Amino acid sequence: MASTPSISEQQAFPVLDVPQIARLRAFGTVKDTHPGEVLFDVGECAYSLVVVLEGATDIVDRANTDHVLKTSGPGEFNGELGLLTGQSAFTACIISKPGKVLIVPHAGVHEIIATIPDLSNILVTAFAARRQILMLSAVASLTIIGREEDAEALRLLEFADRNRIPYRWLDPHNPSDTSAIATCGSPEGDMFRVVLDGRRTLERPSPLDLARAIGLDLFRQEGRPSDLIVVGAGPAGLSAAVYGASEGLSTLVVEDTAIGGQAGTSSRIENYVGFPAGISGEDLAFRAEVQAIKFGAHITVPRRATALERRDNTYAVRLDEGSVLLGRSIVIATGARYRRLSLRGQEAFEGVGIYYAATELEARRCRKREVVVVGGGNSSGQAAMFLSQYASCVHLLCRGSDLAQTMSQYLITRLESTRNVMIELRTEVTEVRGGETLDGVTIINRSTSETRNLGVCGLFVMIGAEPCTGWLRRTVALDEKGFVRTGAALKTSGDKSDIAGAALSPFRTNLPGVFAVGDVRSGSVKRVASAVGEGSVVVQAIHQHLAACAKLA
Ligand SMILES: Cc1cc2nc3c(=O)[nH]c(=O)nc-3n(C[C@H](O)[C@H](O)[C@H](O)COP(=O)(O)OP(=O)(O)OC[C@H]3O[C@@H](n4cnc5c(N)ncnc54)[C@H](O)[C@@H]3O)c2cc1C
Repeated sequence: MASTPSISEQQAFPVLDVPQIARLRAFGTVKDTHPGEVLFDVGECAYSLVVVLEGATDIVDRANTDHVLKTSGPGEFNGELGLLTGQSAFTACIISKPGKVLIVPHAGVHEIIATIPDLSNILVTAFAARRQILMLSAVASLTIIGREEDAEALRLLEFADRNRIPYRWLDPHNPSDTSAIATCGSPEGDMFRVVLDGRRTLERPSPLDLARAIGLDLFRQEGRPSDLIVVGAGPAGLSAAVYGASEGLSTLVVEDTAIGGQAGTSSRIENYVGFPAGISGEDLAFRAEVQAIKFGAHITVPRRATALERRDNTYAVRLDEGSVLLGRSIVIATGARYRRLSLRGQEAFEGVGIYYAATELEARRCRKREVVVVGGGNSSGQAAMFLSQYASCVHLLCRGSDLAQTMSQYLITRLESTRNVMIELRTEVTEVRGGETLDGVTIINRSTSETRNLGVCGLFVMIGAEPCTGWLRRTVALDEKGFVRTGAALKTSGDKSDIAGAALSPFRTNLPGVFAVGDVRSGSVKRVASAVGEGSVVVQAIHQHLAACAKLA
């Protein structure tokens, strides 16, 4: 589940004053209410904002015998982040005391956000805070039933966690979950399944099945190409989306796995300017996501771009399930993906012992047990520090003979002074073992050739990453390692739409109107701050490109 909320509960439930309500009235209609009347229900898409004028409403958890989560009186309002993203409702809103409410339809909410800054701040802050509260309290219309050892179930949990979809998880092998499983409206058995709003059951759903079922995936382009399509929602893509959408570009973001990218998997980013105590990658990603949505960007997840094609002055981005999105400009922000070890039998333990990120989700499974972290870079050092708060012992294995060559000194100092972190240099994993989950590894010290067996429940592999550019082959110029070539290193294409300042952008690729930012770019600095910086700066070149195209048209 999500980490401690950074947005307080007080911000979640503000009371609007009379002038504020008066301004909202222009966007909705007033309606008399009766006890028991349902104003929106679990699973409803594009539901309305409900402002209480007289009487009271209850927000109830349908999956938990209509338990009342919040009662709202005059001046309070009902709705949460799904109102902006298009996700279906996770709770129901029922009249508990008759009176009057102002109903503001979905489109009206977007108009308020776009046109009234002070109300926009109140609504967006409250929506985001409520989502965090839902995540932390495990209140959900969504019940995931699956065993801890089921890799598919764990993949779905990771998808829900990383995309901040509220859920509760029940394990059919856990006796304390038996009665909850019996009452949640699902057929019996220990098969992995998801129960939606206590009515529909999805059997062994993929992340895409789930996204479709809860409306995460609703956005459809209506004929006209978007001004900007951003591929990848890591720090670079989210930043391009925030700046693009806030500067009036119709912006569509396509993300394969989870909003936040690599940064979203970092337990604590300590070198991002403005956060002296550090910030979790998950928190940073959530803030950026809310900001992008607030400015009107549409984010579609999970959707993988599989090809980029040029069509006159526009580009077509082909997606994995066959659909095609059209954009007048493209930002490639697909970053990089972790490298794997090559150990016999490792596939069987992916997600059930072998991990490529160390977030709370993985750490909880390693409580009071031993784990191994492989890698000599900052990400492995951070992971080892984080896991040391949960595991009884963290073995940090590094192939090289000197950590200082690859890791920041501040991290080395911390690791060396942490009692339950063992740094083992010139050491590698040679074997993984286990039944349904990982329970041991063999390691070898290359200096002494000594081998040892370690009983561990987690092997965290943090040995660098490769660029996600397979979908660009044959269209975009890549360097010898597969990163996208940009800027001065490229010859100007001579294309007329390139004549404006966009041709001078350090982020342009060999195709006019196609830019690359962040880790995917050849020669980029692999940092959150630089990815965010590039994502913001590139928007100026996009404006120049679009203006040049408009002149030519
Ligand atoms: C564990 C860890 C800890 C880190 N800690 C720090 C730190 O403390 N400080 C720091 O400055 N940096 C840190 N980094 C590095 C930092 O996270 C990256 O430099 C940064 O995330 C790069 O951002 P990006 O947007 O360019 O790419 P990414 O973060 O890689 O995001 C790319 C996104 O594109 C998506 N994608 C890929 N292919 C496709 C496709 N075909 N279609 C659609 N979507 C696609 C991916 O799913 C991903 O979400 C850390 C990295 C890791 C892994």
